[in-house]
Amino acid sequence: MNKEPNHSIKCTVVSCANHARKENYCVLDTVSIGTHEKNPTVIECVDCESFILGDCKDGSCNISK
Ligand code: SF4
Repeated sequence: MNKEPNHSIKCTVVSCANHARKENYCVLDTVSIGTHEKNPTVIECVDCESFILGDCKDGSCNISK
């Protein structure tokens, strides 16, 4: 997989396997955004459906700068 940051998709979810790590961007070309609510009204209703849980047990999910 391309691990270079996609500077069109900002993201701070460092626990996601698709996070660029070295910068707060996603590495995917596109992401799917959706909702888990019937009638979304606030930001908390909205989800990135491209999220995949990464392996953060060794602290590798932390941004180093
Ligand atoms: S897939 Fe979604 S949650 Fe994961 S790094 Fe990309 S934008 Fe962030």
